[in-house]
Amino acid sequence: MDKSTILKKYGTDYINMTMSLLEVANLKNHIQDKDKCIAIKPNLVCPTPASYGATTHPEVVEGIILYLQKYGFNNILIMEGSWVGDKTQEAFEYCGYRELCERYNLEFVDTQKDKFHKVMCDGLELNICDCVDRADFMINVPVLKGHCQTNITCALKNMKGLIPNTEKRHFHTMGLHKPIAHLSKGIKQDFIVVDHICGDLDFEEGGNPIKTDCVMVACDPVLLDSYVCKLLGYDLDQVPYVRLAAKIGSGSDDLESLKVKVLNEENQVIKEFSGDEDDPYENKTIVSGKMLEVSYAVEDIDSCSACYANLAPALYRLKEEGKLDKVYKKLGSRISIGQGNRGKTGTFGIGNCCMKFDNYVKGCPPKEDDIYEALCKFLND
Ligand code: SF4
Repeated sequence: MDKSTILKKYGTDYINMTMSLLEVANLKNHIQDKDKCIAIKPNLVCPTPASYGATTHPEVVEGIILYLQKYGFNNILIMEGSWVGDKTQEAFEYCGYRELCERYNLEFVDTQKDKFHKVMCDGLELNICDCVDRADFMINVPVLKGHCQTNITCALKNMKGLIPNTEKRHFHTMGLHKPIAHLSKGIKQDFIVVDHICGDLDFEEGGNPIKTDCVMVACDPVLLDSYVCKLLGYDLDQVPYVRLAAKIGSGSDDLESLKVKVLNEENQVIKEFSGDEDDPYENKTIVSGKMLEVSYAVEDIDSCSACYANLAPALYRLKEEGKLDKVYKKLGSRISIGQGNRGKTGTFGIGNCCMKFDNYVKGCPPKEDDIYEALCKFLND
């Protein structure tokens, strides 16, 4: 399969769909040497089952393992680290990966516990986990999702699981887009298998899964993410890290050059279209805009993903109950969140970074329920 192609398959037998896509893509020819160490990088952002729309279905990873073992590639390991605020080991357990690793006798590397080292990524020095150096061939297995800060998350942003928690926080102080783009120079992803089964199109941590029942494969993370922007109704200007990654040479953002091929059960191409055309299978895949409905009430200065992701649904609950506007009016200002508020004062802040504010919700990150209750209490006091 060449870099300008994306293959897609729809159905519910995720293991076999994945295996057959890898057959058509001829993954074994991409890897070549059977002794290579193959790293599989799923998304285990938090300890919730894949059906919630946040984490990679273990069936997709199982399809990859079965394909690799069928062709004699047995040097396989899985590596991932959850976001700041959750422990990878819990996600490893709850998302079905302990069972998967035991069944196939695979090593799992928890990047939250791994050592790390500095890597110069096209002029930007970033800390990257040591385990990345063990991989001769990296298979990225992201979930296609919305994201409350970057609008979309798929191939490029999924690599954030391979940096230490300290660097994840640092990413947010750099505005996320630039470091995500530059990370693509520090970690090469050789092949991508996308879990597009039921990702949440608003929030990275899931909760509102949108069923699509699709698995896709691609080789160019930038072209793939450009296509995801289009699928979710975003212009490339609304997801700056994609353009930036193209600019520094990590792939192409030229959707006109992209060929999308949809396969049927017999692996025949039943539809082919260019990346700049509307996808006839997914013209209903649009973001619900929940984030836009509540973002007017937030002043974000470099917040961590987990912190903002806990605030957003709390605000949405208030919005649905007709309380958000009342909170906003009573505050007379926006709700503050983010590392840029450290040492500053204000009226109402989210998380320990805002501990000098008149009112703040404790935690790093604070829980969604605690934020919701604190804002209700503020309204009623
Ligand atoms: S409190 Fe500050 S450091 Fe902690 S998660 Fe929130 S933004 Fe990040």
